[in-house]
Amino acid sequence: MVDPLERKADEAPRQRFLLEETDFDEVPPKYRRFYRRRKGPGDPLGPNEVVCPVCKVVIRSTRELREGDRVYCMPCMSRLVVVRADDGTLEARVAY
Ligand SMILES: [Zn+2]
Repeated sequence: MVDPLERKADEAPRQRFLLEETDFDEVPPKYRRFYRRRKGPGDPLGPNEVVCPVCKVVIRSTRELREGDRVYCMPCMSRLVVVRADDGTLEARVAY
């Protein structure tokens, strides 16, 4: 599976996203649009994006992300689970 979203928490319809190419060069070209560097804490994340807690790269899916989703960070090869943070935003934690 190419998209970082490996396993969806539920099957309710999700918003879809068209990902534009990025200049992220730490993965092969066909995967580049699924990752980008965050330009700082003020750089907003979309509903289809989470930050990898390990390497701080932004992981992007073609689908809206939800709590309980499992995503894969190719740059650092981490398997992550999406959780709801205290401030209501989505964040990724390392899955064990
Ligand atoms: Zn990572």
